[in-house]
Amino acid sequence: MRIPLIAGNWKMNKSVNDARSFMQIVSDQLPEPDQVETAIAAPAILLETMIEANGADRLRIGAENCYYEDAGAFTGETSPQALAEMGIPYVIVGHSERRSYFNETDDVINRKVHAVYRNHMTPILCCDETMGRLEAGEKIHWVVSQVTGALKGVSDTLARQLVIAYEPSWAIGSGKSASADQAEEGCYLIRQTIADLYGDDVANEMRVLYGGSVNPDNISQIMAKQNIDGVLAGGASLDPETFLQLVHYQ
Ligand code: PGA
Repeated sequence: MRIPLIAGNWKMNKSVNDARSFMQIVSDQLPEPDQVETAIAAPAILLETMIEANGADRLRIGAENCYYEDAGAFTGETSPQALAEMGIPYVIVGHSERRSYFNETDDVINRKVHAVYRNHMTPILCCDETMGRLEAGEKIHWVVSQVTGALKGVSDTLARQLVIAYEPSWAIGSGKSASADQAEEGCYLIRQTIADLYGDDVANEMRVLYGGSVNPDNISQIMAKQNIDGVLAGGASLDPETFLQLVHYQ
């Protein structure tokens, strides 16, 4: 059975003090991780504070990004090795904001996926889908090529641990979530792509999340779908009470 993963992506929205007070409110109200796993991905500058304030230790604290080299002369970048040293379990890779504002290509994303694995962490690989591609009937090709490109050279054993998030860019931050059926269709397509690349066993074990304007009102419908194992929520993960509503969606 795939354990649901309710994850937040704070983006660049919180100060150190905000992060600390969020943790103080949520950390002892989270479910047992073997029932529902919960995670927040935050900017590197907040991670230490969050780890310190993670009282019951139920929240997985992830990073939003890292570089593809472990260390070296890369001014301003975040070392995956240093993230691993802090005990960070997850790193988001390939978010649509990284692809569109920071020009991350499938090749860069592939290198980052390898860097995260090399440092014994798990990538949360995001695949986007633009409205233009959807309307042009290119959805399948686009999603398949992002998944395939990001996973070049990744072994079966590593792929098994992967988390993939299907995040249509038209639904991100727009307040217009994909319908539960559309979300299911995207997640199914990703699982089929993994089955083609790695076989049914890996595809059945791997968790696929939906992201894009998830909120406490639509999460139950989304989570009821067969191929959706969790969500990646941006806006709805910022307020502690709203995040708690997401994680207690059942
Ligand atoms: P949103 O963001 O929930 O605010 O739409 C989701 C994401 O970008 O991961």
